[in-house]
Amino acid sequence: MLTIQQHIDLTPLNSLHLKSQASSYTILDNLEQLAQLAELIKTHAKFFVLGGGSNLIVPEFYSGLVIHNQLRGIEFSSVDDEFYLVRAMAGENWDNFVAGCCEYGAYGLENLSLIPGSVGASPVQNIGAYGVEVKDFIEQVWVYDLERAELISLSNAECDFSYRNSYLKNNSRFIVIEVSFKLRKTAQLKISYGDIAEQMALISAPSAQDLRMCIIATRRSKLPDPAEIGNAGSFFHNPIIQTAKAQQLALSYPKLPIYPTSNSEFSKISAGWLIDNLGLKGYRQDKVGVYYKQALVLVNHETTTTQEELLSFAELIQQRVKQHYGVQLNIEPIIL
Ligand SMILES: Cc1cc2nc3c(=O)[nH]c(=O)nc-3n(C[C@H](O)[C@H](O)[C@H](O)COP(=O)(O)OP(=O)(O)OC[C@H]3O[C@@H](n4cnc5c(N)ncnc54)[C@H](O)[C@@H]3O)c2cc1C
Repeated sequence: MLTIQQHIDLTPLNSLHLKSQASSYTILDNLEQLAQLAELIKTHAKFFVLGGGSNLIVPEFYSGLVIHNQLRGIEFSSVDDEFYLVRAMAGENWDNFVAGCCEYGAYGLENLSLIPGSVGASPVQNIGAYGVEVKDFIEQVWVYDLERAELISLSNAECDFSYRNSYLKNNSRFIVIEVSFKLRKTAQLKISYGDIAEQMALISAPSAQDLRMCIIATRRSKLPDPAEIGNAGSFFHNPIIQTAKAQQLALSYPKLPIYPTSNSEFSKISAGWLIDNLGLKGYRQDKVGVYYKQALVLVNHETTTTQEELLSFAELIQQRVKQHYGVQLNIEPIIL
């Protein structure tokens, strides 16, 4: 049975700590609630599923239903000599899940350690870090399809994953219920990424746990902890632009990091570098600013800040970047 609460404060439930309230709120913690949930959604003008709230830009007042996914459970099974299949319910905390996999001896997700949020949101924006994306390990995503009012499974291919994107992100008819991952019994560490490579080179015969600890320490040294200062991690996507344009920029800015993409006509450039190079790292206007250690992260210093205030600061950064480099920065977190 679902319990519905009215006028819930969302300020502590979003990692940016934006001031926000929702007209209706309910907790989903049991699969038997799904049919009732489908009916409840029909009585609201709009709804969204809330996980850890770490990738959201919430409005001051959300006139709709917030469904807080708190479905729990993790199950390991052996597929063959090489792989485990690990099934995790959507409401599990992502980093606790990664820690549990590492302890069990199911490997692959180490590079994604300490990303805030829930298991259920991980396929939605195809989370990625340090050269790894979650799509590389996802076998299936079980979703509740609100249109058909039933549980269905989507294969990896059907999820249509791409850079911080998926079929799920663009379809609000699906509530992610469970994600299954195919993880290795023997670790194949991915340690070629930038400063991780340097640190791992100092350890002889590093284990998956060593890699996880190294990722955690690196992230803690560079990124603000949402428990201490409001943020949503990377605020802008790294722009994917025509390779010819990237090469042209490299003539004026030889230090600009440029990464190849699967299509040689397009290259990915570092949004953080573009902002940093304008001298905006640490720049603050009233309650919001650019994080002093990492220019890609916008921070919110107060719990009275509204969506409007944050977005107007983001627009200023976008305008400066556009004027200076002719490159459009797009916002990564979801604007509700
Ligand atoms: C300090 C910090 C560092 C970060 N670093 C990274 C990083 O390295 N890489 C990276 O990719 N991201 C990063 N992020 C962003 C964020 O952690 C991820 O996007 C994460 O997956 C969001 O999970 P969540 O549960 O908090 O989702 P929420 O913010 O609650 O929701 C995000 C979106 O997913 C939808 N959603 C959530 N759960 C479900 C569900 N069960 N079914 C359907 N839709 C759902 C929501 O409706 C919303 O549209 C970082 C954020 C912070 C604050």
